[in-house]
Amino acid sequence: MSMLNPLQMRRLDALNYYTATRKYDLSFPRLTDDIDCDVVVIGGGFSGINTALELAEAGITNVVVLEARHLGYGGTGRNGGQVMAGIGHDLDAVKKHVGPQGLETLFKIANMGAGIIRDRVAKYGIDADFSRGYGYLAYNQRQLKTLRGWFDEFRAADPGEEIALLEGRDVQTIIGTDVYAGAIKHMGGGHVHSLNLLLGEAKALAGYGARIFENSPATSVEYGPRITVRTNGGTVTASKLLWACDGFLDRLEPAIASKTVNTFAFQVATEALSDDIIERISPIRGAYSDIRPVIDYFRVTRENRLLFGSATRALDYIPKDLAGWNQNLMLKIFPYLKDVKIDMAWGGPMACSANLFPQIGTLPGRPNAFFVQGYSGFGVTPSHIVCKVLAEGMSEGSARYDLMARIPHVSIVGADNARPAITTAGKCWHQLSGYFNGRR
Ligand SMILES: Cc1cc2nc3c(=O)[nH]c(=O)nc-3n(C[C@H](O)[C@H](O)[C@H](O)COP(=O)(O)OP(=O)(O)OC[C@H]3O[C@@H](n4cnc5c(N)ncnc54)[C@H](O)[C@@H]3O)c2cc1C
Repeated sequence: MSMLNPLQMRRLDALNYYTATRKYDLSFPRLTDDIDCDVVVIGGGFSGINTALELAEAGITNVVVLEARHLGYGGTGRNGGQVMAGIGHDLDAVKKHVGPQGLETLFKIANMGAGIIRDRVAKYGIDADFSRGYGYLAYNQRQLKTLRGWFDEFRAADPGEEIALLEGRDVQTIIGTDVYAGAIKHMGGGHVHSLNLLLGEAKALAGYGARIFENSPATSVEYGPRITVRTNGGTVTASKLLWACDGFLDRLEPAIASKTVNTFAFQVATEALSDDIIERISPIRGAYSDIRPVIDYFRVTRENRLLFGSATRALDYIPKDLAGWNQNLMLKIFPYLKDVKIDMAWGGPMACSANLFPQIGTLPGRPNAFFVQGYSGFGVTPSHIVCKVLAEGMSEGSARYDLMARIPHVSIVGADNARPAITTAGKCWHQLSGYFNGRR
């Protein structure tokens, strides 16, 4: 986040719902030695911890994770906690690189997500408030037409799941507002306390014998058959490395920093509301997002708060009043919440790729240096999917890893201080394309 000034950073880093309600009393030491391992992971968010956990489950347990601050400091500990279907954005953008058969494989990969989270919560007994119930929302008939297509795809992918297309007044059976023309109710998706999920996963990882270090930022990397990662307190030497820093990479590894630009999302948590109001907002106690190019997304929490999130529509900037910014949007949907207090407001960067598809692979000419990044705003479920595939690539290899890793990712050129302009241009293009793909 080095491009931000201290005031902006303070706004984004303000106390958030997840930190305020974390359940795991879990912390890890700072690295103070020179140590060896099989795999070193840089970054302690969903990507780093999930890949390490997948490796550990496959028998590769001599793994070290280095986290610059504390686990979940990044997007993982700041997000909306939305567990949605799919891998993020449309797969259309990568169709030409993978062919029809590859696309079918990607559809299958994309549908593993919520199941992985549900299985993990059950397997390790993770206390992360996982809750079923998701609503995809359409503002108008054009978006509703898009939802009809999704409905068929969702049902084909998940025939046993409760999935319903709702139109007109029926929408209000899942959400207490009349602003939407249609919705898909998908009981396979839902929401989760993402920080507690991460910490539960980290605890499981440590249980396999993997070593985790917090407050241990990687400062430089020396590549070769054995890779050495330096920190201020010690070094880690490993046969394989994984970069998993997403929007927090800064420019430490230029080969991958050039493949994404950061954009920002902002969140608020209301005060705890009465059961009656929650029942009115969300009879399914679910999570929701509309399907516009830049979405609003919200959910209820176990403590009866409403978490509401958004991003700027086109111009890339960080609003001065994050609480007011989201409150305005929230009241357009739920005007009856006008007297409700906003307790917390925060935000964070998200690394976006040019095709909005998550990126995995190895650094050019360095077959033992892997990376994962670029979830483009949708990382809770997709990181669980992508890291399963990535871990296959980092261990035995797999056809689906090869498929995902061969998708090319263009470099986003331009000096650091041109990046806000680049992001704005990208957002404007994304908004415009919404008219052609049924999302406006
Ligand atoms: C405000 C907000 C709302 C969001 N809402 C949603 C949502 O509702 N649904 C959804 O699917 N996605 C959402 N996302 C996106 C999602 O949270 C991310 O895509 C996902 O968490 C990325 O996980 P990650 O592990 O790749 O990266 P991160 O969680 O960002 O973790 C990267 C980690 O790397 C560490 N790091 C950086 N540099 C170094 C270094 N040199 N050495 C060691 N460690 C380093 C950082 O400290 C950080 O902890 C949201 C993101 C934000 C910011």
